[in-house]
Amino acid sequence: MRPKDMNPEQYKAHKKAINQRYLKKHPDRRKATVRRHYLSHKSYKNTQSKVWAKTNPERTKQIQKDYRERNIDEIRFKSKLAKYKRRNAEGSFTKQEWSSLVEYTLGICIGCEELVGEENLTVDHIIPISRGGTNYISNLQPLCMKCNFEKGTNIVNLLENPNVALSDD
Ligand SMILES: [Zn+2]
Repeated sequence: MRPKDMNPEQYKAHKKAINQRYLKKHPDRRKATVRRHYLSHKSYKNTQSKVWAKTNPERTKQIQKDYRERNIDEIRFKSKLAKYKRRNAEGSFTKQEWSSLVEYTLGICIGCEELVGEENLTVDHIIPISRGGTNYISNLQPLCMKCNFEKGTNIVNLLENPNVALSDD
């Protein structure tokens, strides 16, 4: 039967069959189509929420504030990680890895042995990135800001040699 002789139901089934044959033959194109659909839908949704945000500024502010409060650890960690990733060094570390390292040192700076708490510990690279160090957790140690600054670009592993000086001078 030719398409023009079909009734609407038959025509629908015919189109569906063609479509299915096509998708079976080109699975990659199917993925691309789904993705395109998702993206266009997403941008539509984004526009809608932007419009909503503009007409409800107070409520939007509150939602953003709530979100920040609920995810403060996550946000802090992401900005911490982004800072080190920007330097284009090899490797990466997870929040979990960093937390367990800080837990291991009990929130104490391993340079001056002051209890400064997780929030005040900075990510120090044992081998500085400028000297070829990576962002893998094995190259990281928690130092307070002061010790991190003092260490500068020296290669000092306080996890393995707790009594070594941070800098030569
Ligand atoms: Zn310190």
